[in-house]
Amino acid sequence: MRIILLGAPASGKGSVGERIREEYGFPKISTGDLLREAVRKKTSLGLKAETQLGKGGLVDDDIVLGLLRERLGNPDCHAGYILDGFPRNLSQAQSLAALDGQRRELVFEIQVREDVLVKRISGRRICPSCEAIFNIHTKRPRREGICDVCGAKLLQRNDDRAELIPARKETYRTKTEPLTSYYGEKGILCKVDGNGTVEETLRPIKTVIDEELGKTGGKRIQL
Ligand code: ADP
Repeated sequence: MRIILLGAPASGKGSVGERIREEYGFPKISTGDLLREAVRKKTSLGLKAETQLGKGGLVDDDIVLGLLRERLGNPDCHAGYILDGFPRNLSQAQSLAALDGQRRELVFEIQVREDVLVKRISGRRICPSCEAIFNIHTKRPRREGICDVCGAKLLQRNDDRAELIPARKETYRTKTEPLTSYYGEKGILCKVDGNGTVEETLRPIKTVIDEELGKTGGKRIQL
């Protein structure tokens, strides 16, 4: 089983993906996280990605694919996985099909209104240490500026700065949104309303996954 989450920046892919992971046990793979980690660790792909990250555009396909290929080789992906932030353009979708084409696939497009997106992006704070996500408007940490999970100091992501938001939106509209037609034509796309809470967004997604797991005789993985 492969679950792909599509949605504009700050539509909630990361938070919803995390809840799917908790519910079903499939690992959640965020290419944004993989890229930031590679940059932090100064790996060869990380050094290549560094100059391209945080500009509002996409990082080169070969860098992202290199990181993803490595991650999918991990045994925890054997039974299935959740993709957050990949594919982001048609050529990545085709590469994914070539890399691991045999899996059952479900694609969810999380749809969120413009005003909600702006509020989420401007309020988002991330933990640089454990990648937990907070929001100063809607999901405040217990202690201001401090991660509830690991106690590190929270930061605003470099690319969440207001001046980069138009470029990120434009990248989504021109490069990623066409994937909804690609997956729609395959009959595996479900559109979900992402304007509410994470739990509200999750509910219809779970119904679809449960149905699919029932069809394929799949099981929830025990974490
Ligand atoms: P968001 O979805 O909120 O923009 P991510 O953490 O998913 O944030 O991604 C951050 C940045 O990393 C993106 O703006 C882009 O530059 C880069 N990136 C992430 N995933 C990909 C991908 N699949 N292909 C190309 N670039 C990517």
